[in-house]
Amino acid sequence: MTRLIIVGAGASGMMAAISAAKANKDIDIIILEHGAKPGRKILATGNGRCNLTNEKLDSECFRSHDGAGIEGWLKMCQTKDVIDMFYEMGMLTYDKGGYIYPYSRQASTVNDTLIKQCERLGIKFVLDAHVLEVEPGDDKTFKVLASIGYEEDGVRKKKRECYIADKVILACGGKAYSSLGSDGSGYKIAKSLGLKMIPSVPALTGLKCRENVYKLGAGVRTNAKISLYVDHEMVCEDEGELQLTEYGISGIPVFQVSRFASYGLLDGCKVHVNIDFAPEYTKEELKDNIYKFSKISDDTIGNILDGMINCKLKDMVLAYCRIEGNVKASDLSFDEIEKIVACIKNYYSVVIETNDFSQAQVCAGGVRLSEVNGNFEVIKLPGLYIVGELLDVDGICGGYNLHWAWLTGIIAGRDV
Ligand SMILES: Cc1cc2nc3c(=O)[nH]c(=O)nc-3n(C[C@H](O)[C@H](O)[C@H](O)COP(=O)(O)OP(=O)(O)OC[C@H]3O[C@@H](n4cnc5c(N)ncnc54)[C@H](O)[C@@H]3O)c2cc1C
Repeated sequence: MTRLIIVGAGASGMMAAISAAKANKDIDIIILEHGAKPGRKILATGNGRCNLTNEKLDSECFRSHDGAGIEGWLKMCQTKDVIDMFYEMGMLTYDKGGYIYPYSRQASTVNDTLIKQCERLGIKFVLDAHVLEVEPGDDKTFKVLASIGYEEDGVRKKKRECYIADKVILACGGKAYSSLGSDGSGYKIAKSLGLKMIPSVPALTGLKCRENVYKLGAGVRTNAKISLYVDHEMVCEDEGELQLTEYGISGIPVFQVSRFASYGLLDGCKVHVNIDFAPEYTKEELKDNIYKFSKISDDTIGNILDGMINCKLKDMVLAYCRIEGNVKASDLSFDEIEKIVACIKNYYSVVIETNDFSQAQVCAGGVRLSEVNGNFEVIKLPGLYIVGELLDVDGICGGYNLHWAWLTGIIAGRDV
């Protein structure tokens, strides 16, 4: 009987276990998980609703340093395959404009479905089991060394345990939101096995900006288009609901561009954003409207802007332009109106830092895709597989990161 050890009971690990058990009846599967429960991160996904995949699936939704093969993998595991897989386990899904959620709208349904299916298939969980090392033996087996927590006389203790496995799947995730389990130990294990890595950085996270005027706008949510520049070259842009915070900017469009800021800053480059706070209007239209509204009543620029943009955003824009809100619009010079409009349409802001890993939804970077074959088996260590976020692939927001976790788990598990 083949013994498979999976390190990590997250999305990719549980899916890999289920896929392996379905494809092979003569297999003994143990999942070693250092948390007290399986799938803690799944429970936090999609604001507790779990956006588990997306109808629109193409390689542009995934980023990697060697992304050429992603297209092929997406064909092997499409949206429908994931939906069907969950249906076969007894879970209904719901399509909200292409974004797929459990019909219950509860992330716990996804986690419970995976755990129940593992139990049905005889897959064993060992919890409070922190894997320290994976060592390839001479006889094509692997030694998996773990520190296991156990209870003795009411006291929690640790002991070392060495598992011998024919196959191992590393499904430890990255180091984003380590409070939910993945603490970067997967990177250490992969590195100790000699695998080539891309440095891991926070992705899908907020950006800290240099200008202190953000304090005036904190709390504002507004539609905006954000363009990210690294050394003055535009590398990514996105539009959606932007959130202004005390430290800078957040929200989905910021998350989408954040991994490029992380890598830019890591490389010591200058990173800045241009924000268009009124993407539906041209500069000319905004200017015309300021002049038209000032003719309705000879009002202050502050009051006129209140009719055009969020009032806290107006405070921020005027502070940035160093123009008092109580000045009559008719008293402003042409250049001052130009400056206000340029600020609304083309707000220049220097990014000094991204939020750290503890506030990033995923990590970019990880084990290079060139280290694995089409079934996510490590080319130089047959029998060892790498799945999920531990690989150098990060998806944009919209269910793509979980899709990657399911996809890699399904393919690797089947191959085992
Ligand atoms: C707040 C938040 C919201 C998100 N929302 C979404 C969403 O709606 N849609 C989406 O697609 N993606 C979302 N994501 C991203 C998604 O959750 C992850 O990309 C995905 O869970 C990665 O799956 P994984 O199996 O690779 O890793 P993980 O889910 O992180 O699982 C890894 C597991 O391995 C365990 N582990 C790690 N190291 C060891 C070790 N040494 N020994 C034993 N066990 C170990 C961990 O405890 C963990 O249980 C979100 C992430 C966060 C943080």
